[in-house]
Amino acid sequence: MKRVYNFSAGPSMLPLPVLEKAQKEFLNYADSGMSVLEMSHRSGLFTDIISQAEHLLRELMKIPDSYKVLFMQGGASQQFAMVPLNLLVNNKKADFVNTGSWSKKAISEAKKYGEARVIASSEEEGFTFIPQVDMSLIHSDADYVHITTNNTIEGTAYSEIPDTGGIPLVADMSSNILSEVVDVSKFGLIYAGAQKNIGPAGLTVVIVREDLIGRAQETCPTMLDYKTFSTTNSLYNTPPTFSIYMAKLVFEWLQKLGGLPEIERQNREKADLLYTFLEESELFSSPVRPDSRSIMNIPFIIPGRELDALFVKEAKAAGLETLKGHRSVGGMRASLYNAMPIEGVRALVEFMKEFEVRHR
Ligand SMILES: *Cc1c(COP(=O)(O)O)cnc(C)c1O
Repeated sequence: MKRVYNFSAGPSMLPLPVLEKAQKEFLNYADSGMSVLEMSHRSGLFTDIISQAEHLLRELMKIPDSYKVLFMQGGASQQFAMVPLNLLVNNKKADFVNTGSWSKKAISEAKKYGEARVIASSEEEGFTFIPQVDMSLIHSDADYVHITTNNTIEGTAYSEIPDTGGIPLVADMSSNILSEVVDVSKFGLIYAGAQKNIGPAGLTVVIVREDLIGRAQETCPTMLDYKTFSTTNSLYNTPPTFSIYMAKLVFEWLQKLGGLPEIERQNREKADLLYTFLEESELFSSPVRPDSRSIMNIPFIIPGRELDALFVKEAKAAGLETLKGHRSVGGMRASLYNAMPIEGVRALVEFMKEFEVRHR
């Protein structure tokens, strides 16, 4: 069986043992005579799956009891509206840090519901770094502060989570959730589309502090109110059952591996391999300021040469898939999510070395 190293930014690689387990159980889950795909979301077997998924995620991220874990649909993009609908309700003002395309989308959606103030931005410098955020920038009347912890397209990430004092910090963690140890208690709300580091597309995970639930206005659609999901254990209507099952398998895989401390160690080792090569290379380079570099999404460029298309084509022929940069920034990008084995990064670096020799 041929499997490639897939550097896609999302949907992206899943751990092979997870895919194999799903395959094994596909036609007959737990001796039920049916597939998880065919199972009622109200059945005992499925309610076990969803509660185990929640339990495992709580253990992995050490989520305090005062937080709810919600399984939804609509992607991170739906959260761009759902967060203001639920939280932009007191002073109707929120503070945003603008660090890339996804931040911009969150900002423009929030503007429909109130005042979205940009308190720091790296837009004028092409989003090549994470701006410094401290208490002096944050308005005391902000209903919340919003950040994008990892910028999937630009390849930047916060090295430290900003302190917002008593103001709830909301984070789009779509592309780095579960990649490293994080202190959930620093956040009021965390959201993430599943298709980067959790499982298949179709599932969105929200981790929200209990006191932030139940604030939405009466006109808020039922399906966009966090309360709907928190009072029903995410079973108000039919949830994305198979995606939740797959997420559960990924959580089990992570736990067996040693949890977030171990996956963080692996992720740092993988990213170091590529960054070290980019520093040494005379052909390739990183467009991102060293203090702001993501360990999940690593863009790289070949300055002054028209070699991008050739690189991507030859890499693909060598089994290194989906290395083209996002259409908005060009160049190349390697996404090294949890499921990417270190062998994949070694193969990429070897290929880049060899490409450099041929094109120097
Ligand atoms: C992928 C991504 C999104 C969009 O996610 P969807 O699930 O497609 O809506 C938003 N924010 C970040 C940081 C992302 O990486």
